[in-house]
Amino acid sequence: MGMTKPQTISQFFKCFPDDETCLNHLFEVRFGQGFECPSCERSSNWYRIKAERAYSCQWCGHHLHPTVGTPFEKTRTPLQSWFYAIFLFTTTRNGVAAKELQRQLGVTYKTAWRMADLIRKHMADVDGETPIGGEGKEVEIDETLIGGVARTGKQGRNLSNKTVVLGMVERGGDVVTTVVPDVKRATLVPAIKAHVAEGSTVNTDHLHSYAKLGEEGYRHDRVNHNVGSYISDTGAHVQTIEGFWSQLKRSINGTHIHVSGKHLWKYAKEAEYRFNRRNRPEAMLPELLSTFRPLSAE
Ligand SMILES: [Zn+2]
Repeated sequence: MGMTKPQTISQFFKCFPDDETCLNHLFEVRFGQGFECPSCERSSNWYRIKAERAYSCQWCGHHLHPTVGTPFEKTRTPLQSWFYAIFLFTTTRNGVAAKELQRQLGVTYKTAWRMADLIRKHMADVDGETPIGGEGKEVEIDETLIGGVARTGKQGRNLSNKTVVLGMVERGGDVVTTVVPDVKRATLVPAIKAHVAEGSTVNTDHLHSYAKLGEEGYRHDRVNHNVGSYISDTGAHVQTIEGFWSQLKRSINGTHIHVSGKHLWKYAKEAEYRFNRRNRPEAMLPELLSTFRPLSAE
């Protein structure tokens, strides 16, 4: 794509000086000149239709809408504001509060919240759900409780109204998170099997629900938190995933203050997206502005 990788605000505005540039960017990354018309099936030059966010086939007049199927589809908010909001999401570590978007973009709080919500879903989509691990790979698995009111019961892991997030991270690789209803074995094991390839060496703590992972196609190594050590004799540890939890909690508690259980998965996915691109942060904006769901026939 012809886009440089803007890292500063002034670079951003140089790349995307107005809505027209943003629309043209979407057209180029999704179709491009010469794109075969879905209607007449001829390779066409496409002409900008000024009255709407569309381009027209030179042969039959069929319209292409570059925003269809993107987070920007059903919105009157200027495309440049959307692109800038995404830029902010890619240049922060702890996330972007809706209040901050409201202030910077001059939109209502409701609009800002909805934009942030759609951007998080987009990050989740782009990140995808490819299984991690595999033969010879080390995967750390851990669950955490987020939000709600802290209460500790006899079992030490009283869920009360907190949300349970299961996290799995391949050492040196990607993290994947999923919100689960509880920490029962019948819940956690299928969730793990859906995301962690067989043959992986999995590292967990001593939560009973993890006890039989050795019978599920994994090599299983357990950390002994109980004796005050976070690394077992065999070197098992879950420090990578614990680092990820700290980052996610800093974002939720520090930036967003309160996130309800039903929305939490999106904040986890946002953190996941960023963590998985920790070694190439400059690739995030170009990726988010060029990766969209496959086009269905218009
Ligand atoms: Zn045509």
